[in-house]
Amino acid sequence: MADLMQMLTTNPLAKQLGVPQAARLRRGRELPTGAVVVGSAGGSPSLVRRTLELLGLPVEEALVDTPHTRVSQTDDEGRTREVPAPYPGTVGAVVVDATAATAVADLEDLRGVLRPALRALEGSGRVVVVGLEPDTAGGPTAVAVQQGIEGVVRSVGKELRKGATANLVRVDLLTDAPTTPTDLASTLSFLLEGRSAYVSGQVLHVGHAEEGRVTEVTSARPFEGQVVVVTGAGRGIGASIAEVYARDGAAVVAVDVPAGGQGLAQVANRIGGTALQLDITAPDAGRRIAAHVAQRFGDGARIHTVVHNAGITRDKLLVNLDEERWGSVLEVNLAAQIRINDVLLDPELPGGLDDGGRIVGVSSTTGFAGNRGQTNYAASKAGVIGLVRAMAAEPRLTARGITVNAVAPGVIATEMWGKVPFLTRTMGERLNSLQQAGTPLDVAEAICYLSSPASAAVTGRTLRVCGQLMMGA
Ligand code: NAD
Repeated sequence: MADLMQMLTTNPLAKQLGVPQAARLRRGRELPTGAVVVGSAGGSPSLVRRTLELLGLPVEEALVDTPHTRVSQTDDEGRTREVPAPYPGTVGAVVVDATAATAVADLEDLRGVLRPALRALEGSGRVVVVGLEPDTAGGPTAVAVQQGIEGVVRSVGKELRKGATANLVRVDLLTDAPTTPTDLASTLSFLLEGRSAYVSGQVLHVGHAEEGRVTEVTSARPFEGQVVVVTGAGRGIGASIAEVYARDGAAVVAVDVPAGGQGLAQVANRIGGTALQLDITAPDAGRRIAAHVAQRFGDGARIHTVVHNAGITRDKLLVNLDEERWGSVLEVNLAAQIRINDVLLDPELPGGLDDGGRIVGVSSTTGFAGNRGQTNYAASKAGVIGLVRAMAAEPRLTARGITVNAVAPGVIATEMWGKVPFLTRTMGERLNSLQQAGTPLDVAEAICYLSSPASAAVTGRTLRVCGQLMMGA
């Protein structure tokens, strides 16, 4: 079947027949090769420029399309038309600061900057618009305009091809705790680099973290010397998460059920981490994780990040769903992580979560959209979205600078996904803006971004890693 997929997506005849061609995505820490151009809408605020400066990225001024800046172009058949003045080379990324956009006319600035840039955008190029949290923008017109920007970005995401992505970052500027360049840096660098390959059409949020909470924003090994716990690490997405944390410097504790022991040991050996055979639904699971950390890494050791990746499905239409299938999914995917968090958040517990620590849940696009035959799974995954939103505001986290976020993967090419019937699989893989499935690496990169020491100003959010999946909501 894999060969058939390959044939369908790469065969020249398939291309002529209009079968969408999957582009090779830029991944890892690679930056765009073309120019990073910066523009603005509604004025010339400095937040984006100062952030790019902090990241050490050379930027150029974006061209703006107006009736006065257009040039005449003659096509092969001798027809002449007015087109935006072209960029001299390719554009790797266009970053627009739209935080000052408050009037409907300001949206025209956004169009004016995006039009020429999109014509020159390279494969796997980036469109990043930075706006305000709409409800903090002022009166109804300003709120409408900031909300309108979301419509633009989500539509551009659907128009882009060749692996390019478009995302919106919302910041706070008109509140008591305005977002600073230091707060925004990790999110901008994630979006510009290949780490965000499978994130498109999304709205990300960056608030403000207390002075000193954000550390080193440009490190390639942000988890150096930190302990990270990953559940369900014996295979699939969890194994990839463990590998990426190890790549980025972490000492990883890989957790999985005893039955998954062989895969777990292999993962732990490969990455130089430690394996902990544990069913996360055990009542003492949190204490056993903490005890493992204290024992393996010394008395003073604490956890920097815990990733709740372990998850199961027990699919049935609700009319056929018994309490066992219902309960087991909610227990593994939601209740277990609530219990483990409560234990690890005890500041007195040896081997518990450190100050400035991170909690990351793994939700699913099913948690947003629902799915036929998955009421139990959708309940658990929507539950994770609510859980991180609510926990983020709790004093037991805020007082210690601990953040909590989630990722919601869409269609990810894992062994499990490979078993889904061919037609369903093909639909899922094609019906997203990037016209392909994501990889476990894409999910892992998003998790590492959210839990990076540099992402202290990002909390309570669920980031979809789904290539802008068009199935469901
Ligand atoms: P997978 O089944 O390949 O791996 C899940 C791992 O969790 C397994 O190693 C399993 O042994 C472990 N696990 C299950 N129950 C456990 C328990 N009680 N205690 C400890 N470990 C346990 O699944 P995957 O595709 O890698 O998915 C990983 C996560 O991503 C899950 O939460 C899943 O719901 C979510 N997700 C996956 C996709 C996808 O396309 N694969 C899409 C959206 C969300």
